[in-house]
Amino acid sequence: MNAESSAWERRSAVRVVPPVRPRKLAKVPFVELADGRLQGVVSSGSDIERVYVSSFTAGTHSYSCSTNNNRPCGALPSGSSPCKHLHALAAEAVLQYGVDRVARYLRVDLDDGASSGADLVGGMNGQVERAPAATVFSRFLRHLNYLEIPDTTTPIPEMHWFPALGAVR
Ligand SMILES: [Zn+2]
Repeated sequence: MNAESSAWERRSAVRVVPPVRPRKLAKVPFVELADGRLQGVVSSGSDIERVYVSSFTAGTHSYSCSTNNNRPCGALPSGSSPCKHLHALAAEAVLQYGVDRVARYLRVDLDDGASSGADLVGGMNGQVERAPAATVFSRFLRHLNYLEIPDTTTPIPEMHWFPALGAVR
């Protein structure tokens, strides 16, 4: 347990309410254009205990996917094409920012009529390059803290991620 994950636990130890019933989880609860990357947190399709930190780098279009514990994504052997987490990240980024803005940020030349995350991924031809997950993941946790609203009765789907992150037992 390193110092950073301890800090995560301290930060996330406040006001955690277990969900009373299953909720629809956000497939991509966090996405940002930062540090010269499109990066974000993507849920595992099969295991809610697991999340992935995925990113595309602007310019080189190298990409990375690993668990929040920095284990390489099993679906992303070196030299392969982007995994489904990276595709989900691209699709969510297009929803949130629009395909033109994401393409400009990553410096992707899109074909006329390109509009989807798949078009965006198809416009890149990068290689796997491991990027550290910790920075993105800690920003995700800060993002969750911003979502804490006192006295709200509205369920906040993102809050569900606290238990999934192993911060609560
Ligand atoms: Zn992956």
